[in-house]
Amino acid sequence: MRHRLLVPGAAALSLLLAIPASAADFTPGAPGVGDTYYPESGNGGYDVSHYDLRLKYQPKTDLLEGTATLLAKTTQDLSRFNLDFGLKVSEIRINGKKATFATSGKHELEVTPATPLEKGKQISVVVRYAGKPSELKIDGYSAWARTPDGGVVAQEPDSAVWWFPSNDHPTDKATYDISVAVPDGTQALSNGVLASQSSKLGWTRYNWRSDKPQATYLTTLAVGKFDITTDTTANGLPVINAVSPDLGANEGSARASIERTTEVTEWLESVFGPYPFNAVGGYVPNVPARYALETQTRPFYGKKAFDRGTNVSVVVHELAHQWYGDSVSLKDWKDIWVNEGFAAYSQWLWSEKEGEGTAQELADYVYAQHPADDPFWTVKPGNPGAENQFDGAVYDRGALALQALRNKVGDKVFFGLLKSWPTENKYGNASVADFVKFAEKKSGKPLADFFDTWLFQPSKPAAGAVKRTLGAPHAPVAQPKSWKQIAATHDVHGH
Ligand SMILES: [Zn+2]
Repeated sequence: MRHRLLVPGAAALSLLLAIPASAADFTPGAPGVGDTYYPESGNGGYDVSHYDLRLKYQPKTDLLEGTATLLAKTTQDLSRFNLDFGLKVSEIRINGKKATFATSGKHELEVTPATPLEKGKQISVVVRYAGKPSELKIDGYSAWARTPDGGVVAQEPDSAVWWFPSNDHPTDKATYDISVAVPDGTQALSNGVLASQSSKLGWTRYNWRSDKPQATYLTTLAVGKFDITTDTTANGLPVINAVSPDLGANEGSARASIERTTEVTEWLESVFGPYPFNAVGGYVPNVPARYALETQTRPFYGKKAFDRGTNVSVVVHELAHQWYGDSVSLKDWKDIWVNEGFAAYSQWLWSEKEGEGTAQELADYVYAQHPADDPFWTVKPGNPGAENQFDGAVYDRGALALQALRNKVGDKVFFGLLKSWPTENKYGNASVADFVKFAEKKSGKPLADFFDTWLFQPSKPAAGAVKRTLGAPHAPVAQPKSWKQIAATHDVHGH
């Protein structure tokens, strides 16, 4: 809003002479953004535009030391505000001046500036801290995983509080510079591109940059020893893949899966439109986890995701999230379908392209697998509840809803929607209701009742809504070839 200073004459004068709000008008920012499932997540009163994290991590002791600089803009007159963070803080400065702070709740840090902050101002917040993230337990749990040679943080819906102070909700996205010093011979991986790397006195510092809006839970860090491959796509996008050399029997299958990243990204561009970020890739650390996560530009894959061999389908899922979930993020965690329904459906489309079962065959299979009294149908993908947020039904029924939509509006409109949604909502946030309105506008059809049936009713939609393409109406539906790999992605999330 700098141009306002150029307003001539009386207007400028009145701005300059504006009477400051009285102290009574300055109030604390809310301790949460009011998320339906996670009311304490995020905070009110400000909007972060950039995080600069300067960290040092010692794998031997799990000690993480850091200085975080947050650039933000106030959205109300603030007497104080909260950050979400769990490690021990030694100092906080706001606009260079020392602030006081106190902890409250599960992960709240209440920060009081030396002087109240006026609405609409740019502020800088510097937080110095140190701690052992694996020892920080919230509800008995740590999102930080130690490995034999380092540590990894990649979790949903919360991971930031274990390693940097933030406004921890997907509605407040920001750009990131993440600089991490680790002992020589160890690597530090994060989001985006590796801007530079240098060694000094036994420590190597890696400087990562993610220059497009990124949600806190999509921000990742992995310290350890990795075999790293780098390349560029045909379009010049940097590709960085990393695999721990200690995956045992899974090393080959892990590598064979994530080395398909460039090819999968190119194919996804043909379905969803231009890739939205400055780099792509993936990493497989030595973490005994079965899940994967769509951490921005660099998805995380747990070692056990490859227990049954190569799985390109999970790579398709996590890369599809770069458009659906990362570039276009949910508004509230209840909107999880705008992430998972589409990522799951992208696996069906990949199966169709690979000749391992069409999306229609997969839809028929899912529909037939679950009789009307199966609890599967009680999970509502449009608002599953926090306890069912990552239930298999959110994925399978969520993708089924999209196949039903494809049948209802036809391929031309449907594939137009798949491309225009991430283009028109790029770097923003959207809800399930927003998608319903969007689909109605683009198709010219009333779809509220249709989506209510497929996403919001705790019951099996009537037969006939999904048309069968193969077999007699009552013949058993054959399991598509791709099914086992797709089903293996169901435990992608969750602890
Ligand atoms: Zn997913």
